[in-house]
Amino acid sequence: MKHLINSMLFLVIALPVLSQDDFSKMSVRTTPAGGAVYMLDGQGGFGGGNVAVSVGVDGVLLVDNMYVPMMAKVKDAIKSLSDKPIRYVINSHFHSDHIGGNNELRPATIVAHENLRKRLVAANTASRPTNHLLPDFTFTDKSNIYFNGEEVRLIHLPSGHTDTDVVTHFTGSNVVHLGDMFFFGMFPAVYTQGGGNLKQLIANLDQVVTWLNPDTKVIPGHGDLATFEDLKAYVSMLKATTAIVEDGIKKGKTLEQMTSEKVLAAYDTLGSGGAQTTDQYLAMLYKLLKG
Ligand SMILES: [Zn+2]
Repeated sequence: MKHLINSMLFLVIALPVLSQDDFSKMSVRTTPAGGAVYMLDGQGGFGGGNVAVSVGVDGVLLVDNMYVPMMAKVKDAIKSLSDKPIRYVINSHFHSDHIGGNNELRPATIVAHENLRKRLVAANTASRPTNHLLPDFTFTDKSNIYFNGEEVRLIHLPSGHTDTDVVTHFTGSNVVHLGDMFFFGMFPAVYTQGGGNLKQLIANLDQVVTWLNPDTKVIPGHGDLATFEDLKAYVSMLKATTAIVEDGIKKGKTLEQMTSEKVLAAYDTLGSGGAQTTDQYLAMLYKLLKG
């Protein structure tokens, strides 16, 4: 799935790469996650990040909403789960593949970390407007929504994938949405230009693991619905690959040396998971850790 890495580059260098035609070929898949919560993901191309949907007596609450051209398909998928109104839309972070549909979902209340609002205000230009995506409600450390019979905890963790990251924990349904703090089945990206930090991301995930239990279902920003064990394996992979590259740097190795030595060969299957290749991930780690 070359679209995902293209799209990540899009976030960095701001060049459009997906046509309307690409989106028209895609569909939205619905997977029960647990309790009141379902996961929506794009199939047949890269439509954006994974969406969590809570349905019940109070209506519908979403975490993320993909790119704006996916909105009609996302709304159709939601309609097949509930005919009640969409009342809340949580933004996991500021990247456009997760919050592109914010404005199409009003009058729902758009909820985000205050840094997300600041970043969108700063990014707004006449040619690439972002003001229509602004959240209505922002918070700093944490906030709770009591919805569909459960406490939905929104927790900000500093400087991980970006500095706008929000974890959404459906405590009764035993489901958590981690946004792009978790790429399942592929290598992740850390955006320093969006306030991200690799070491802090690992520390944040170590903290998240302590809030969960072996039965918790984990919705990643990208990839299939995952388990608690999958999340723990991902954190171990981040730590191990970071340690390998740090060790190489300490020994004075160049990126070219580590690439030709294939130091991350043990993790190669993640390199064909749809995001960064193994060499691209190695180059990212080298750049982040070289300082
Ligand atoms: Zn992202």
